[in-house]
Amino acid sequence: MSDGSTLTERKVMVIGLDGATFDLISPWIADGTMPTLQRLMKKGASGVLTTTLPPISSSAWVSFATGKNPGKHGLVDFVHPRQDSYQISIVGAQQRASKAIWNLLSDVGRKVGIVGMPVTYPPEEVNGYMISDFLTPTASDDYTYPLSLREELDGAVGGFPLLPDERYRSTKFVDKFIADMVTDVERRLDGALYLLDNKDWDFFFLLFWSSDMLQHETWRLLDRSHPQHDPEAAERYRDLVADFHRRLDEAVGRLTEELGPEDLVVVMSDHGFGPVHSFFLVNNWLREIGLLKLKRRPLTRLKYGLFKLGFTPLGVFRLVKALRLGFLRRRFRFQRGGGLMKRLFLSFADVDWARTKAFAVGSFGQIYINLKGKRPQGIVGPGEEYEKLREEIAARAEEIRDPRTGERVVERVYRREEIYSGPLLEKAPDLVLQSRNWEYMAFGHADFGASHVVEPIFGMSGHHRPHGIVMLAGEGIRQGVRLERANIIDLAPTILYAMGLPIPSDMDGRVLTEAFNPEFRSRVQVEFSDEPSQRPTGEGEYSADDEEEIRERLRGLGYVG
Ligand SMILES: [Zn+2]
Repeated sequence: MSDGSTLTERKVMVIGLDGATFDLISPWIADGTMPTLQRLMKKGASGVLTTTLPPISSSAWVSFATGKNPGKHGLVDFVHPRQDSYQISIVGAQQRASKAIWNLLSDVGRKVGIVGMPVTYPPEEVNGYMISDFLTPTASDDYTYPLSLREELDGAVGGFPLLPDERYRSTKFVDKFIADMVTDVERRLDGALYLLDNKDWDFFFLLFWSSDMLQHETWRLLDRSHPQHDPEAAERYRDLVADFHRRLDEAVGRLTEELGPEDLVVVMSDHGFGPVHSFFLVNNWLREIGLLKLKRRPLTRLKYGLFKLGFTPLGVFRLVKALRLGFLRRRFRFQRGGGLMKRLFLSFADVDWARTKAFAVGSFGQIYINLKGKRPQGIVGPGEEYEKLREEIAARAEEIRDPRTGERVVERVYRREEIYSGPLLEKAPDLVLQSRNWEYMAFGHADFGASHVVEPIFGMSGHHRPHGIVMLAGEGIRQGVRLERANIIDLAPTILYAMGLPIPSDMDGRVLTEAFNPEFRSRVQVEFSDEPSQRPTGEGEYSADDEEEIRERLRGLGYVG
C-alpha cells in the first residue's frame, strides 16, 4: 500500500473467542500449546480488553459491534423486565438502537459476512450475509440472510451449528462434553472456510462460543483453589481442556491463512473469566429486607411454605442429580412454562407488585426500582424518594455477609449512571451489585431459585470477569506492542480507521492509534462523520413459546437464574 486510498482493498477478519482470558491461556501461549496466538502477539499489538459492566456477552458483543456503551445501544443483558408488565423479555436484534459495524460497512458498499454474533436474530439484511446466533429458536429456519444460505450450508458442510451440543454439560461425562466443544469448533471452522472461499467479503466476523461454555463448566478442574476442585478429575481431564484450546488455536490459524499481508486480523473476547463459588439470591435478599413483598393469597402462602422447605429450582436440580435421574433432569430443564412443578415454585407471579419497591433480574446483581409512572404498579416516587431508596439499597447491600465465612458478598454497588450513559439509560437496571471478587453469581429472577440468600454454586464453576483479550495484526499494526487501555467499544472505530473509513462521531469508543505504526498514522488520518448512527428500535419477534424455550436455554447456560 502506498496511500490511504488502497485501503478500500483491505480485508478485516474478526475472530471472537467468547470469554477468553489471559489468566487461563497465557501459559498455553507461552508454551506453544496455542502457537497461532503466540505468533499474533509477536507480530501484532495485543493486550487486555476491558469490557462493559457488568460483563455479559450480549451487552459486550453489541458494544463491540456499535462502538457504544449500552446506554446508547440499549442492550444491557440477555433478559430485561418489560416496562408494561413484570414479564421478563429476551433481547432481540430489533432492540439494538444503533447501527452496527456491518450496517455502516454495508452503507458504503463493503461486503460483510457476520457469523454467530450474539443478538442477531432475526438476521439483518446486509451487503453480504449473516448467520444468527444461539438466541435463534430451535424451530426457526430463518436464521440466515439471505434465507437460501441455510440450505446452501446444509448441502456444502452439513449445516452450521448455532449452539454447541451441550447434552453432557453438568454431567459426569466431562470428556464427552469437551469432545462436543471441539466438534463445535471444527464444524464452525468448516462452515467459515466454505463461506470465506465462496462468498465475497471485506469484513468477516466469526464467534466461537464453545470457549465460554467450556470455561463455565471446567473452571474447577484448572483452579486448585476452587471449592469444587477435585484433584483426580483435574488429573484426568486437564489435558483435554488444554487440547480444546490447542484445537481452537489451530482453527484461528487456519482462518488467518485466508488473509493476505495487507489485511487485518483481530482476535478478541467479550469478557474474561474466573472462578464462581456461590449463588447470590438477590430477590431473596430484597424480600428479607422488606423491599419485595409476596401476595397474601393462599396459593402463594402454600408455595412459600414449600419454598422454605427447599422446594425450589435449585433444590429440585440437586435432588434429581443426587438420585441420578438424568432423564428427569433433561425433562425438567426443557419443559415448557406450564409444568406442575414450575407452577408450584415461588415466582414473580407471587410478588405483590403494589407493595414491592425493588426487584432483581439478571445474573450480575441487577436491581430494578418499581418506579411510579414507569412500571404498571410502580410505588416509588421519582426524584428524592428514588434516590433515597437507591442509597438505602446500596448501603444495605454492603452489609450482606456470607453466612459461611462472615465475609462481604457485595464488593461494590454501581448506580446506573456510573456505568451507562445515553438515551436508553431508562432501560438499564437502576443498581448493579458487584460481588466480592466476582465469586458470587446472582441467581433467580422469577423463580427465586433457592431459599437462602447465599448458596453454594451448582452446575458451573466459572463465570465472567471484566477483562478479556485483544490481538491485532496486519499491515500498519506495530509489532509486539502491548496495549494498555483497550476497551471493547474501541474496536469498531479502530476497524473503520484501519479500513480508511470515517468514524461516526456519536460512537463512544476511540481509535486505538497506539496499535498503529507511525508510517500508517501519517498516511491515514482519523476522520469522523456526523451522520447519526443511532436507529429506531422495535419490539422482539419471539412468540411466547420461543421466548420460553430460549429462556430455558439461557437458564441452562447460567445467564438466567
Ligand atoms: Zn461471552
